[in-house]
Amino acid sequence: MADILLTPGPTPLPPEVREALGRPIIHHRTSQYRAVFKRVLQGMQTVMQTSSSVVCLTSSGTGAMEAAVVNLLSPGDEAIVILGGKFAERWQKLCNVYGITVRAIPVAYGAAVDPKQLAVALKDYPNAKVVFTTLCETSTGIVNDLRSIAALTRKSQAVLVVDAISGLLADDCPTDQWGIDVLVAGSQKGLMLPPGLAFLSLNARAWELVERSKTPRFYTDLRLYRKSLADDDTPFTSAVSTVIALDEALKRILSMGVTQTIEHCGQLAAATRAGMKALGLELFSQRPSNGVTAVQVPAGVDGKQLTKIMYERSRVMVAGGQGEMAGKIFRFAHMGYISSEDIFAGMKALEAALASLGHPIKPDAGSRALQSMLQPSGA
Ligand SMILES: *Cc1c(COP(=O)(O)O)cnc(C)c1O
Repeated sequence: MADILLTPGPTPLPPEVREALGRPIIHHRTSQYRAVFKRVLQGMQTVMQTSSSVVCLTSSGTGAMEAAVVNLLSPGDEAIVILGGKFAERWQKLCNVYGITVRAIPVAYGAAVDPKQLAVALKDYPNAKVVFTTLCETSTGIVNDLRSIAALTRKSQAVLVVDAISGLLADDCPTDQWGIDVLVAGSQKGLMLPPGLAFLSLNARAWELVERSKTPRFYTDLRLYRKSLADDDTPFTSAVSTVIALDEALKRILSMGVTQTIEHCGQLAAATRAGMKALGLELFSQRPSNGVTAVQVPAGVDGKQLTKIMYERSRVMVAGGQGEMAGKIFRFAHMGYISSEDIFAGMKALEAALASLGHPIKPDAGSRALQSMLQPSGA
């Protein structure tokens, strides 16, 4: 029995992506490769909903987050960081490492930031150069109100940087239309690729900060990447095979359409939430994302046992909670190549695991609710 990955990264790979990863490698300083690289970055502009140039790094998502911090800010600069989960806290940690003064906006786990909190912070810290936030906070399953966050930030001098690593292609985020200055993405979530590529889009306002930053940087110096982009090239060896696989993934995404991909994700998320409610379970997220559903482990159930049993008995891998949420929540992802059949298998595995732990549920209530939600769309 093959494993079913319902984790919010890495996510399953479609067959044509796996096939592309197995092809003989080509050299990266060739016209053949440059043509692919150019097409892929144009595709990423469509997916990231921006006309700004997109930079591609060979790293996991955090590498692009670090690139944003070192390229936009200098030691001693002020930045506002919106908290509320493990990934939001990563912005804070990165800023601390580079001597940036952090003005943190506290947000409870499971909640999304109230935009009024940001309005107050922008007024209290008029010298903040950057606002860092997260589209989908993967650790709690919430999606922040980026439209309001962007509208508020645009009225200040600050540049808005959004970690959309798990939210891209799951939660709609029209970068240019909403006025987001920097969007950060990664390969192993909605893009249906292995880990290893990270992306940043930067508009003119953001590039101005890049020119002024005094933070030392070498591999992540975005000025080098911008210079190479003119020749559809990269300053250092490109992750050739993964980029070629991205070309395949983008064909699939763009033939379905960005909006339709997001809507599909939204349908899977709504069905998952309905299934959880039918099982009498409570959501953890107060503003649920389309990409990942975080659910509270019911009282009397050992959360770590629950996810362990789901994997051992049914080969379904879901994510538990991170940090202080460990054992208290579990998370079903429905981004990328995760299908309605995968979610259905996950729901069946959850029902079986809850029953085996002696937690009372109505038999098949979750999987039936899920099925009835997915049928109209042909799933
Ligand atoms: C997965 C993820 C990251 C990146 O993590 P890496 O392990 O560095 O790829 C960052 N932010 C969010 C919201 C994520 O979901």
